[in-house]
Amino acid sequence: MPQIVSHEEVKGARTQRDVQGGQHQVGRTDFIAAPKERPDLPQAFLIDTTAGRRLPTHFHEVDQFQVVVKGDGRLARHDLAPGGVHFARGFTPYGAITMGSQGLSFMTLRARRDPGKAQFIPERLSRLEEVQNRQPWQTTRMPQFHPAKDGVALDAIAGLEDGRGLAGWSLTLAPCAAASLPSASGSDGQFVVVLEGSLVQAGKSYPQPSVAYVAPTEPAMTAMAGPDGLKAVVLNFPMPMDVAASAGTKPHRTPTADTKAWHCELCNFIYDEAAGLPQMGIAPGTPWSEVPADWKCPDCEATKEQFEPVEF
Ligand code: FE
Repeated sequence: MPQIVSHEEVKGARTQRDVQGGQHQVGRTDFIAAPKERPDLPQAFLIDTTAGRRLPTHFHEVDQFQVVVKGDGRLARHDLAPGGVHFARGFTPYGAITMGSQGLSFMTLRARRDPGKAQFIPERLSRLEEVQNRQPWQTTRMPQFHPAKDGVALDAIAGLEDGRGLAGWSLTLAPCAAASLPSASGSDGQFVVVLEGSLVQAGKSYPQPSVAYVAPTEPAMTAMAGPDGLKAVVLNFPMPMDVAASAGTKPHRTPTADTKAWHCELCNFIYDEAAGLPQMGIAPGTPWSEVPADWKCPDCEATKEQFEPVEF
């Protein structure tokens, strides 16, 4: 049986702390808690923070999904809005995260408990340098939720894949419709985050925001929507690096042999001269030398000096 928890069930245990000298507040509500001595167990918690707060670039030691549940903001150069999904491998810096005018609430999901806390850049650069075979990678995606044809729309989230089992889907269910979800086998565990409407399991209703966890050994879950329908994301964690097949991993973007490309030493974001970054005002074909000196990594805000040529 998948483990399913609704906000209603856990909201009484929300804790709040002051940050930035009391200027901002951060709330944390644990949905699926793993005790410190069990780093093998999954964890899911909701973070809610006040408008305008800035969370500097940092990393964790385990793979992590974050799903925006409410509000708005920015992750480095990416706009964040409800439904948005960020995936970062362990030891991959991301941020800064800036909360928008409505504040920001996001669900943090880990297949395995982070042994420590957020490690900030540049203070913890030394920790990154200690790690052997670090393969940093991250992606921020805004899934498309399609209208439910015959009651169901289940679509893979483009770009959320890595050859180690990482995968994600957007799910729309019409009121009271049901669908069999993709299997969690071959992954390191699956989370379902209810964004709108409600999920019904074993006669019980789990309204948004709710979280379900399906272990890799469990059968695929059948999701049923409540009377208001259901909008959710389904997220499969990749297998941990140390047990991954030697097939390896795909880079963020694969430039052709004659392309000049540069990658971020911290998070492995790739700047491909041929593609440019039109969304950041850098036209396709712009050579690295013409990228403005104050330009920063769109995923982790590393400076140009922290980029290295991609070798072929
Ligand atoms: Fe970066």
